[in-house]
Parts: sequence; C-alpha cells; structure tokens
Amino acid sequence: MPMGYVDLHLHTTASDGVLSPSEIVRYAKAKGLQAIAITDHDTIEGCEEGLSEGEKIGFEVIPGIEISAEHSPGSMHILGFFLDIHHPLLNERLAYLQKARAERNPKIIAKLNQLGIEMTYEEVLKASGGGQVGRPHFANVLLEKKYVRSFQEAFDRFLKKGAPAYVDKLRFTSKEALHFINEAKGVAALAHPNTLGMNGYSELEKLILKLVEEGLKGIEVYYPEHSAAEVAQYKTLAERYGLLSTGGTDYHGIEKNGLDIGVGRGEMKLPYSIIENLKAVRNRFSSAYAEDNDFSRR
Ligand code: AMP
Ligand code: FE
Ligand code: FE
Ligand code: ZN
Repeated sequence: MPMGYVDLHLHTTASDGVLSPSEIVRYAKAKGLQAIAITDHDTIEGCEEGLSEGEKIGFEVIPGIEISAEHSPGSMHILGFFLDIHHPLLNERLAYLQKARAERNPKIIAKLNQLGIEMTYEEVLKASGGGQVGRPHFANVLLEKKYVRSFQEAFDRFLKKGAPAYVDKLRFTSKEALHFINEAKGVAALAHPNTLGMNGYSELEKLILKLVEEGLKGIEVYYPEHSAAEVAQYKTLAERYGLLSTGGTDYHGIEKNGLDIGVGRGEMKLPYSIIENLKAVRNRFSSAYAEDNDFSRR
C-alpha cells in the first residue's frame, strides 16, 4: 500500500494556478508526494494533461474540480473527485459556465475602463496563460500596470464583491452542482467550510444536512486556513453524518500566498488513507448507481 502524503486541492493554469498540469504533477512527485487531485475552479480542462503526465512518470493523479455554488453570506465551493471527465452532462454544464464567464469578462473590462483604467481584454487573456479567465488575472494585470501595489489591493479596490469593477458570476445551486458531480461518478466534498460565513455549529450542521440530501459525500476537514478548533468541529460533523474527511492545501503557486504543495505552511500531512476512503465510497456508490440503471434486472 502506498504510504506517502497526498494533496487533494490544487489549482493549475487551467484556472488561476501558476503551474501547468504537467508541471504540477512533476512538482508533486519531486516533492515526494504519493498522489494529488487536480481541482481547478469550474473547469476540468487541466485533468487530461495531468492524468497523462502522471501515467508517463508513474504518479497517481485524481481528476477533480472545485465548483463555486450559490450561497450567502460567505462563499461555497464544492470539490469533486474521481470524475468521469468525458461524461456528457458534466461537460455540458461546464461549457455553460464557461459561456457565462466569456460574457462576464468584457463587462469587468468596461467597468475598469470607466474608472479610468487602461486595460484591454487581450492583456488579461495573456495574463491567464491560456486557461480559464477569472478575476485573479485582472488583478495581475492591474498589478503589472502599477494601478495597485499588491494583488490584494486589486481585489479590495476594484474586483471584490461590492467593489466598483465587480460583476457577479453565474453560479449553480449546490443541488445542481452535486447532481452533475454525482452523475459523472465523482465523489463530492464541501471545500473549506470556514468560508461559508456560517454563524455557529448548528447553522453549519443544518447546511451540511441539506447538502448530504443533495449528494454530498465528504468535508474538506484539513485545510491550511482552518484553525485547530475548526478542524475539530468539521471532523465531528463528518463523523456524525458518515462523511469522508478530505484535505488539501489549495496550492496556487507558492509565490502567491506562501502555501506549498502537500505541506501548506509546513503543517499539512495528509495520509494516503484519505484516497482509499474516497475510492471505497466511489466504488460502493457507482456500483449502486449501475444497479439502479440496470434495466435487464427488472
Ligand atoms: P472568479 O472565479 O473570476 O470570480 O475569481 C475567483 C478567484 O478570485 C478566487 O478563487 C480567489 O483566488 C480570488 N478572489 C476572490 N475574492 C478575493 C478577495 N476578496 N481577495 C483576493 N482574492 C480573491
Ligand atoms: Fe483560486
Ligand atoms: Fe475554494
Ligand atoms: Zn481552491
């Protein structure tokens, strides 16, 4: 049985990460990790390249995603692991999100231009490195062109919700996201619950119960931005409702926020058993799915 550490939350250039899918796989192997999941925001475009690099160099790569779902007051992200990346419904739903983004991005440019900022969409496209274009790429251009002194200032002054160049993004409901993740045989986990903005344990518990009904199978318990108390609380919730405990660093490139793959700030050590548990749930549940859909037995 593999014994090394794993990282189940990573971003590549397919969304707002710094490393390409092949680079991230090679980096993970060089760092001595045992396996990783590629979980880009709202896209699986990096999975194929990551999987084939993994095969080439003998390293386990799990095709995944991180979907932004409708939620307030905070933000809700849902991870999906072991997706069938060729599943038609999954691909159709993601294409719909990409189309919405393609309509949103020029609106952000227009707002920035109205504020007196000289920026073209071509500059942002260039900053995106060819992957999905999002607000972090606008922030990078604002920084490069010295309109702001830091990436964070770009969000605070222009891009964050409520700021003058903010344009809302189309999001699926949790029910919709969990539906297409499950249809594509993925195992869904609630990412970093501390960003939900829930007021206390019972409010979070109520939300988790609703998500379980909608098809949630796990909680991202281990995450660099979770306090020890939060980890304990999420672990209790996972155990109480028979959910998997997952974890990852949310690595986007160490130069972005000091978080490194596999280790975060040095405190993360995620055992391979997390992946074995995910596989067990996936197998149980896709065979149940296959039986449900086996009409010859009826
Ligand atoms: P988008 O999907 O285009 O709305 O961009 C979302 C990404 O922007 C997130 O994954 C974060 O990396 C980044 N982001 C969102 N809000 C903030 C914020 N207030 N400060 C810094 N980065 C943010
Ligand atoms: Fe991100
Ligand atoms: Fe997230
Ligand atoms: Zn993430």
